[in-house]
Amino acid sequence: MFTERFANLTPYTPGEQPRDMKYIKLNTNENPYPPSPGITDFLKSMDIEQLRLYPDPSSLRLRRTIAEHYGVDAENVFTGNGSDEVLSFCYYAFFESSRGQLLFPEHSYSFYPVYAEYYGIDYFKVPLNRDFSINLEAFLEKETATGVIFPNPNAPTGMCIGLREIDSFLSKFPKNRVVVIDEAYVDFGADSAVPLIRKYRNLLIVQTFSKSRSLAGARLGYAIGDGALIRALNIVKDSFNSYPVDAITQELGILAIKDTAHFEKTITAITAVRNEVSTALQNLGWEVLPSKSNFIFTRKDKVSGKKVYEWLKAEGILVRHFNHPGIEDFIRITIGRKHDMKAFLDLIADYMQTDT
Ligand SMILES: *Cc1c(COP(=O)(O)O)cnc(C)c1O
Repeated sequence: MFTERFANLTPYTPGEQPRDMKYIKLNTNENPYPPSPGITDFLKSMDIEQLRLYPDPSSLRLRRTIAEHYGVDAENVFTGNGSDEVLSFCYYAFFESSRGQLLFPEHSYSFYPVYAEYYGIDYFKVPLNRDFSINLEAFLEKETATGVIFPNPNAPTGMCIGLREIDSFLSKFPKNRVVVIDEAYVDFGADSAVPLIRKYRNLLIVQTFSKSRSLAGARLGYAIGDGALIRALNIVKDSFNSYPVDAITQELGILAIKDTAHFEKTITAITAVRNEVSTALQNLGWEVLPSKSNFIFTRKDKVSGKKVYEWLKAEGILVRHFNHPGIEDFIRITIGRKHDMKAFLDLIADYMQTDT
């Protein structure tokens, strides 16, 4: 019954969304705060009759709002059903094995190899530096690459690369190959490379409403880049699903972008708690990678990441553990509200009393 290509699929494993008991959920980098209050008002009073109609297939008002926010034109913006879908379209449009391997960091978003397998694109995982930062120089060592994708800040390390280093990398990378920077976490303290899209027509920035704008449930992502790249993504979209962003979500996106006060308030709260939790863990003897995201990646000598993860889960707190050689000692903790993080830190202190 099933095709060979289907039998060969290895799907992405998302963080657990448990139904069995109530956990403090610090495992999928969701935002602990609700979206903009304007969204509540909109949903309560929305014109439900409008749902009979198909949405605007090109999300024009939403794209204009995003474009205005970043100081680009609407023709530089593409929107999709979550940034995962946008990334999938990028793979289809820009990467193929006949032009070399797709390069991405060894420890990174685990969807990157999944899409490569799905589209049959050969890839190479570029090792991180010893301090777990992304080694952009090493991306230049491959003689031919079909393209590059990396997150900034990286996941699951949370570490970021500065704009000057990205600029220098792009100046040396072939101009006829696309570089995708996945900025899912950029709002939590890194510099966006959007200003570089005019200088580098092969640069595409991908962002999402899921993390910094508290809309993971609405599924909305976007890409910003040269008009030629955006037109290519539109051709892929219209060959697959002309209406990926539903009518409600288009409105929610506009409201979320426009509410800069709510955005800044929640970002400030999350980054402050992140810095406090990092310091508290360091005081307990944990190594914390310097995070510019809404999560931290941490380990402690002689403590098994898998065991802490399991213990925390049994105690009602979900974090993320990756059983990948090189990072298997770490746990990744999403920054939640202050009282949830206090509960987490108290449990870590207990764990060290009992187990080490
Ligand atoms: C969360 C995440 C995404 C996906 O975001 P959606 O817009 O919810 O699909 C993409 N890239 C990275 C690195 C992420 O962590």
